[in-house]
Amino acid sequence: MTGIAWLRDVHDEQAVADLASEFASQVSAPLVIYLQGDLGAGKTTFARAYIHALGFSGYVKSPSYGLLETYRAGGQDILHLDLYRIEDPEELEYLALRDLYGANTVLMVEWPDRGKNHLPKPDLVLEFGEKDETRFVICRPFSEQGEQVAENTSGNT
Ligand code: ADP
Ligand code: MG
Repeated sequence: MTGIAWLRDVHDEQAVADLASEFASQVSAPLVIYLQGDLGAGKTTFARAYIHALGFSGYVKSPSYGLLETYRAGGQDILHLDLYRIEDPEELEYLALRDLYGANTVLMVEWPDRGKNHLPKPDLVLEFGEKDETRFVICRPFSEQGEQVAENTSGNT
């Protein structure tokens, strides 16, 4: 269950928006998605596109300073976390994620490795990267729910 489900090239932001729309139509809460990849790889771009695809029309800002931004759209409570600037994973305890995380929650986490064991386990891991000047996304499922989403979204290789 930990293999690569697919790899997809995302040549431009429209391609990310298309992918995010597929996710928006396939993901049902509760679900935990880790967004991995270097600075600038496209993690926030994906989360923003996902939240917009669910119908949220306001500005989706990067949570890199605030740590957590929350949205309600398409029947989902979206928690968008970015742990890039966290100094101690214990800080996550103050966010009381356990209390925020409910049956309608979709949690998306940038820089999840910095949360150590203070984060719930992922159903899906999306890895953002660039090779030969082409950006790509790799999808790896880690639960049955994650596998379902991975099967119903697609790569292109
Ligand atoms: P991260 O959150 O991983 O640090 P961002 O999502 O903020 O990265 O993206 C960094 C920059 O790359 C932004 O200017 C964004 O518009 C651009 N970008 C993201 N994904 C793509 C893509 N697939 N193609 C072209 N530009 C992209
Ligand atoms: Mg980001």
